[in-house]
Amino acid sequence: MLVFKKIKDMQEFSENQRMLGKRIAFVPTMGYLHKGHEKLIERAKDLGDLVVVSIFVNPTQFGPSEDFNRYPRDWERDRSILESHHVDAVFFPDVEEMYPEGYQTYVTVEELSRPLCGAFRPGHFRGVATVVLKLFNIVKPHFAVFGEKDYQQLLVIKRMVSDLNLDVRIIGYPTVREEDGLAMSSRNLYLNEKERKAALVLSRSLKKARELYRMGLRNPEALRNELIEEIKKEPLVRLQYLEICSSKDLKPVMEIGPDTLVAIAAFVGNARLIDNCIIGG
Ligand code: AMP
Repeated sequence: MLVFKKIKDMQEFSENQRMLGKRIAFVPTMGYLHKGHEKLIERAKDLGDLVVVSIFVNPTQFGPSEDFNRYPRDWERDRSILESHHVDAVFFPDVEEMYPEGYQTYVTVEELSRPLCGAFRPGHFRGVATVVLKLFNIVKPHFAVFGEKDYQQLLVIKRMVSDLNLDVRIIGYPTVREEDGLAMSSRNLYLNEKERKAALVLSRSLKKARELYRMGLRNPEALRNELIEEIKKEPLVRLQYLEICSSKDLKPVMEIGPDTLVAIAAFVGNARLIDNCIIGG
């Protein structure tokens, strides 16, 4: 497995592979890899002739009071996971390599960045779009795989790719969960035993949303109230938002349909967790 720390080296490798006619499938991550990342890597293997993974905790997508400094990092652990999946190359740059002194260019996907997480994390999606565009220019992939767990991020990236005519195909991958339903996340590491148990209320309420839809509930406010009641039963969980909106453009819906998205963000202890489902999915 090749490991590139420098942008120039990564670019040269990718350019050579492209000239050999190879199709590059890319999985961008912030590391501290889990089964969710591993599934994305396996999906990437089906798509391309070779797989490139990036590991970069991107400072521009964290707010000043967020967890950039304490975000879990373990290069040796990540390296052995990537090797076990026979990943071809890893891009693992330092912050100074990606954002050298004088850096001042950012990309904003205007409307899709505003609701849901965007309302509580100003600048977050600007940081995400910027780093993903940079990574695409460095890794030069034909395909890039993103998890539906970060559903708004997936929409933002798809919009950016379409609006800026980037020559890369974005592939979404369903949320990978623990056996008990908890969506896998590097941030689950922050949870103690009690908090982890309490955090299950998020996936449980999404399941309830789908059940209520199946039973005929179509009123978004009624569903929202039901789910908030459910989440309030867990004193360790502090709901940040629960939105019921269109999965196409994240705009509010008058009536719930199969394409309606239910998206939740909540603090459990120190961990800010997100989860979502498409109700008829
Ligand atoms: P992260 O390292 O958290 O930035 O995630 C890197 C990629 O993995 C993103 O495309 C995420 O959406 C995706 N991802 C993270 N957790 C999961 C999960 N539980 N299921 C599916 N994809 C995930």
